[in-house]
Amino acid sequence: MTQPKSGPSPLAGLDALTPELERLYRDIHQHPELSMQEQRTAAMAADRLRAAGYDVTTGVGGTGVVGLLANGDGPTVMLRADMDALPVKEATGLPYASTATATDADGNEVPVMHACGHDMHVAWLAGATALLAGARDAWHGTVMAVFQPAEETAQGAQAMIDDGLFERFPRPEVILGQHVMPAPAGAIGYRPGTTQAAADSLEVRLFGRGAHGSMPESSVDPVVMAAATVLRLQTIVSREIAAGQAAVVTVGALQAGTKDNVIPDEALLKVNVRTFDEGVRAHVLEAIERIVNAEAAAAGAPKAPEITTTEHYPLTVNDPDRTARVAAALRGQFGDDRVHERAEPYSASEDFGSFGTQWGVPSVFWYVGGIDADIYNKAVQAHRVAQDIPTNHNPRFAPVIHPTLETGVQAMTAAALDALADGS
Ligand code: ZN
Ligand code: ZN
Repeated sequence: MTQPKSGPSPLAGLDALTPELERLYRDIHQHPELSMQEQRTAAMAADRLRAAGYDVTTGVGGTGVVGLLANGDGPTVMLRADMDALPVKEATGLPYASTATATDADGNEVPVMHACGHDMHVAWLAGATALLAGARDAWHGTVMAVFQPAEETAQGAQAMIDDGLFERFPRPEVILGQHVMPAPAGAIGYRPGTTQAAADSLEVRLFGRGAHGSMPESSVDPVVMAAATVLRLQTIVSREIAAGQAAVVTVGALQAGTKDNVIPDEALLKVNVRTFDEGVRAHVLEAIERIVNAEAAAAGAPKAPEITTTEHYPLTVNDPDRTARVAAALRGQFGDDRVHERAEPYSASEDFGSFGTQWGVPSVFWYVGGIDADIYNKAVQAHRVAQDIPTNHNPRFAPVIHPTLETGVQAMTAAALDALADGS
């Protein structure tokens, strides 16, 4: 883990780089792009990689960008940032707020906003890759920068993998990623093991038999079938999951029928599942299938229900050994008081884990606070964090640029340097 300090630290170049990174950040914030439409953002990322001397491949899995910087013998280290924005109307009131609109995948005109901070992630990775390129005497190996599309729709990582990421590029020793979160700006959080939930979105189509509302004896009523199913699904978490385990089963949509005197033919449920353990996840998904089928059978449904997975985010699991190394590198960079181990995983989900899980490579994902520290600490004292601090995906969510920008660049660079120190 000793670093070959034959040149100045790459981080010495950060002060000079910060103004242009801030311009990049504001520009991307003002020009957000929906998932799988990140053409402009990807072009900006690719331009910056090329300018820093990286060998750049564009159009990987849609708009994905891969930059390689080979610098002698040593490990390959993959650094990942996501690029997409959300169909949210920005309400931050910032001078660089987005007023953009776009056409979504269903053909609807929607407002677009970087409400999850992926614009900050792009700026962080642009900064870290530039600093590493500017101080090549300080490390050996290969830096592999990955700008990923469509994290918000759970498509992007898989699209890059399906487009040959693992065959076309060198297999890294470790994969590193970071996310801006509602915590004091400048603070870093991490968690060994499971760090974010798995998410599964299901559509359940229940088939009945329609009839006149006055003649229920001629029907198999899918409204009643759906209602019974929704109630029974509540027993998965309350009756089948141990007290020390956690899971969420939410029926977010129940759609059936149009009119009081018409019994419809079918009903649709949209179900969202969050789990923190692969065994619990398998159990919950099996239980949903069992209950849905059993309720349909109990109702005398003419046809078995159809269950379709519409979105899947894997568990985000941090390799314990690699996480310990990243934490040590971050503590070395920032000091103990800015780097905290989190007791609980986040219930939000990420597709970052797909890269490491499917490639068989350890990965580490950590969090950088983006809320003005005074505002955050006042909310903590007033016990009003949940009420007063906008979370990611909120129309008022926007990180303060400083020190969030510098912190993410420093964190990614320090963690990358530690990983690149192997074998040199
Ligand atoms: Zn998000
Ligand atoms: Zn995000």
